[in-house]
Amino acid sequence: MLSPSIKSELKRIVGKENFSSLSEDLLCYSFDATNNPSKADAVIFPSTAEEISLILKMANAEDFSVVPRGAGTGFTGGAVPIEGGLLLSTERMKDINIDEENLLATVGAGAITGDIQDMADALGLFYPPDPTSAKFSTIGGNIAECAGGPRAVKYGTTRDYVLGLEVVLPTGEIIVTGVKTLKGVVGYDLTRLVTGSEGTLAIITRAYLRLIPAPMARRTMYAAFAELTEAALAVSSIIGSRIVPSTLELIDESSLKCVEEQGVLKFPELGGILLIEVDGDEGSVDEKAARIKDICVECNSVEFRVAEDKWEVKDLWKVRKAISPALYRIRPKKINEDIVVPRSKMVELIRGVKDISTERDVVIACFGHAGDGNIHVNIMIDGDDAKERERGEEATKDLFKLTLSLGGTISGEHGIGTSKAPYLEMELDRNSIELMKRLKDSFDPKGILNPGKIFIDKE
Ligand SMILES: Cc1cc2nc3c(=O)[nH]c(=O)nc-3n(C[C@H](O)[C@H](O)[C@H](O)COP(=O)(O)OP(=O)(O)OC[C@H]3O[C@@H](n4cnc5c(N)ncnc54)[C@H](O)[C@@H]3O)c2cc1C
Repeated sequence: MLSPSIKSELKRIVGKENFSSLSEDLLCYSFDATNNPSKADAVIFPSTAEEISLILKMANAEDFSVVPRGAGTGFTGGAVPIEGGLLLSTERMKDINIDEENLLATVGAGAITGDIQDMADALGLFYPPDPTSAKFSTIGGNIAECAGGPRAVKYGTTRDYVLGLEVVLPTGEIIVTGVKTLKGVVGYDLTRLVTGSEGTLAIITRAYLRLIPAPMARRTMYAAFAELTEAALAVSSIIGSRIVPSTLELIDESSLKCVEEQGVLKFPELGGILLIEVDGDEGSVDEKAARIKDICVECNSVEFRVAEDKWEVKDLWKVRKAISPALYRIRPKKINEDIVVPRSKMVELIRGVKDISTERDVVIACFGHAGDGNIHVNIMIDGDDAKERERGEEATKDLFKLTLSLGGTISGEHGIGTSKAPYLEMELDRNSIELMKRLKDSFDPKGILNPGKIFIDKE
C-alpha cells in the first residue's frame, strides 16, 4: 500500500487533480482487453518526462511498483497492475507535431495512433502501422508492444517506423535513444530494445516516427471460399507469386457467423473469406488486383469482388473490425493467441487448428493477418467451467507446439505480458531468457517497473 506521505508527495509532483485513489478510478484502470482485472493502490496522470522521472526516483526510494498504461487495449495483461502499486497513465501526453520537410512525426506517448495517422493523411503523408485498435490505442502502447496490424504484410510493424525515443529509465534518468534522421548507428540500438519491451525496461514519453508519402491509389476486394484451407492456399499462392498486397486478412466461418448475426454483411455457407487490399500508383493497383483474382479463382474461390466505392470498402472493414468483440457470442471467454507461421505453412496451420478443435472439443475461431503469417487463433471457452478451462489450456499448448513445429513463433504482435508468460520457455532457450533477465536487472535493479510481466520466476 502507498502510505499517506507517499500519496501527498505524488500529488505535489503532478498536482492533486492528476492523482486519484478513488475506488471508481482504481476500477477503471484495473484491466486491459484480457479482462483479468487487478487494482492499483492509486492512479497518476503525469504530463511530462520530468514528472515521470520524479515519480520513478521516488518509487525506487520508497520501494513501490509503477505500471505504465496507454489505453488499456492490450491482449496479454501488460498494463494490469497485478501487484498493486501505482498505475501511471500517459493519457495527458497527447501532442503530435509533423515535420513535413523531414517526413518526421514527434509525438507524446499518449497520442492516439489513429490521430497520428489522420494528421499525416491530411498532409499527404502516411504512418502505416495500423493495429485494428488504432482508433483508441496509444502510440506508447503500440511501441511497448511493437504492434502490428493488417498492413504489416507490406509495410512492417511499429518498430520499422520508430527512429528514436525519449524514455524515462526505471531509476529516473531521462534519456533520448536513436536519432531524428533516417539513419544512425551510434552505439547499441536502445530504441529497438525498448520497442516491444512491454513497459518493463523504461517508460516511453515521446517518439520520433518515420512517415512516408501516402500511396496514390488503393483497391479493396474480397474472395470467398467454400473451404478455409482453400483460402489458406490462396494466401500462400499470392505471396509465393511475389505479389505483396498491403492487406491480406483471413476470416474463418465461425468469425463470419458472429459478425453476420450483427447484420453487418451476409456471407452464407462459406468456409472463409480473404479481405485483400493493394496500394501504389493508380496504374499498378488494377493490374495487381487482376493477378490476385486469377490466383483466388485457381484456388477455387466461389466469389471475388472488388469494392466499387468507399461505402463498400467501409462495410468490408466494418466486418473485419467487428470480429474481435463479436466472438464472445460463441463463448464468454476468449483465449486469444496471435501465433505466426511461415506463409508457405498456412494450410498446415489451418488443418492443425481444426484437429486441435476436434480433439480438445473446443470451438476455435481464426482470423487475422494471414499475409504475414499472423493468425489470431481464438480458443472460445466458458471460464467458469473448470473442465472447459482445462481443455482450453491443453488446446493452447497444442497450438503452440504446432506453431513451433511449423517454424513459427507464439506471438507476432500482442507480446507476452502475463497471459503467455507460462509458455515463454517453449520458444526461448534458457540462455536467452537469462540474458533478458540480466538486461531487465541492469535497467531496473529494484524491479519496480511493471513487475510480474514476461518472466515467471520459478522457485
Ligand atoms: C479490438 C482490438 C483490436 C486489436 N488489434 C490489434 C492489431 O491489429 N495489432 C496489434 O498489434 N494489436 C492489436 N490489439 C492489441 C492492442 O491494441 C495493442 O497491443 C496496443 O499496442 C496496445 O496499446 P495501448 O495504448 O492500449 O496499451 P496498453 O494496453 O495500455 O499497454 C500495453 C503495454 O504497453 C505498456 N505501455 C503502455 N504505454 C507505455 C509507455 N508510454 N511506456 C512504456 N510502456 C507502455 C503497458 O505497460 C503494457 O505492458 C487490439 C486490441 C483490441 C482490443
